Parts: sequence; structure tokens; C-alpha cells
Amino acid sequence: MQKSKHHLYTEVLTKRILPTDMDASAIQQEFHRLEAGFAGEIKLKQTLSDYFFKTDHHIFYNFECMNEKGYSHQMDAILVTPFFIVIFEVKLLSGVLFYKSAQHEFYRIHNDKRENFRNPLDQVYRHQLFLEQCLRKWQITIPVHFSVVIANQQAILDESLENFPIFHISGVPNFIENLYRNNAKTNANMNVIIAKLKQLYQALPPRRTISSNRLRKGVLCRWCNYKHVMFYHYGSFTCNVCQAKSRDVVFETLYHYRILHGEKISNRQFREFFGMTNIKVCSNILSRLGFEQHGAKKGTYYIIPENILSWSKKKTE
Ligand SMILES: [Zn+2]
Repeated sequence: MQKSKHHLYTEVLTKRILPTDMDASAIQQEFHRLEAGFAGEIKLKQTLSDYFFKTDHHIFYNFECMNEKGYSHQMDAILVTPFFIVIFEVKLLSGVLFYKSAQHEFYRIHNDKRENFRNPLDQVYRHQLFLEQCLRKWQITIPVHFSVVIANQQAILDESLENFPIFHISGVPNFIENLYRNNAKTNANMNVIIAKLKQLYQALPPRRTISSNRLRKGVLCRWCNYKHVMFYHYGSFTCNVCQAKSRDVVFETLYHYRILHGEKISNRQFREFFGMTNIKVCSNILSRLGFEQHGAKKGTYYIIPENILSWSKKKTE
């Protein structure tokens, strides 16, 4: 299961944003929300993996795409069967959840505080309308259903939610069983639907960008929870605070660069990001990595591979 680009970007930002930045705490909070959301999606995946499907099926997790009007859709999971399609929206809300259906108002009471939420039923209904329209365009007839799944066992769902497809994650198998019972097999070709959805899929870019002057430079010490900068000394990086010494931190730092600035890196960009001054040393580090290389002389740049984080494991194993 893949974290979204926005999630990965926010994760790196929590380590790289200057602690004095006015958005620093908002970024931390957003990262915690994204992590919680991802944990919920993993729980849904476990529940669906444990379920015995009666027919062929295919599940897309974290499905992202754009609609024709240029707005984005981010669906936690899409289940495709020959009988129906279901869109799942996973929520990790706590407290007591209430719904005023006529007003489309969704709220919770938690620690004696009442708080309104973006209505998850309307959120996933919007995805349903979109998917139905796509299927019409593809001339495929198959019913599309949705449900909001609460992945937090402690959450309490009020009776006002009773007639809506929102329930605890343990209710997913029963929900699917009912769909099999209440929908007939269609003539839709599942493989065509899967192929069309794969075509439609588009990884969305991060929802924010931050100029590099708001970010910390240098190799950050993982063992100090990224608080301190490590210094280059005879082939490896050393932390003056915890005395950690490592060659492999170069991979993680390059990963941070790739997430924040993209896959291309020149010697100058490398020096700026790593906080190093010696062109020759940096040039040695870069050429020893053996990255794909383009251009010549001052225009030389390297391509940081997508799996750069796994390189440290590869080299030390
Ligand atoms: Zn350290």
C-alpha cells in the first residue's frame, strides 16, 4: 500500500521545516492526521484480505485521479466485483458521532465539546457520482455503492446515523454479503473496468509547496530525531551531539531532496542541500553513487532513483 505524494511530502516537511516557521505546528498536525488516515486504510485492507469473496474481485487502495473539471478525487478504496462496485471511505474519528440528515450536518461530541466535520457521506457520495458518470461514458452498466467505515473501535455511532451506510470496520464483511445478495451479476467485463480505472488513475501532487528558504539544510541526524546536523568527515557523516557516524544517511538525505525538489540534482544543488562547500568531494560522492547521469560539465545532473531509501539496506546487507 502506497502513501500519497502529499503524505510523503508532509512527512519530509515535518523533519525539514524550520522550527520557527509559522506553519511548523500546522504541518505536524496534518502529518498526524495523514498517519492516522493511513493506519485506518491498513485496517480496512486487513479486513478485506480476511474476507472470502464469492467471486473474482479487485481492490484499488488510495485511488487518486482528476475529473474533467480539474478537481481531484481521492478514494481510500474501490472494490470491483462482477456484481457491483463499492467505494470505501475510512475514518478514524473518536467521540460520539451524530448526523442531522436534512441539514447534511455531521458532528461529534468529544470531551464535552461539539465539533462539526466535513460530511464523510457527502464526500464519498461525490466520488460515487463521479464514478457513475465515468462508467456511463465507458458504456458499462454496473451499480456503484459506497460506505463510510469507522476504523476506531472506541468511536460511538449515534442512532441518527442508523439509516446511512456508515458503520464500524467489523461490519464490512456483512455489508459486502448484503451487496452480493441484493445485486444481480452484471454483464460488465471486470477486466475492462480495471483497465479503465488504471488509465484514469493519476497520482496527485502534494497539496502544498514550500520555498526552500523555509527549510533546514544539511544531513539531519536520524538518531537525534532529526534535530541536529551531521558533518562530513572522511567519507562518512558524524553527529557532534550523539556521536553517530554513518555513510548511509546520504541516501535518506537524497530521498528528502527528491520528495521536496524532484528527481534531478546537480553538483551545486547537492552542495546547497547537504550544506557542503567542496565541489570535488561532492562530485566524488555523486559519481560513486552511480546514478543515471545527463548533460556535461557544468550542466551535469543526476537522477535520484525512486527507491533511494532502500539503497542503504541493499548496500549493508
Ligand atoms: Zn545525533
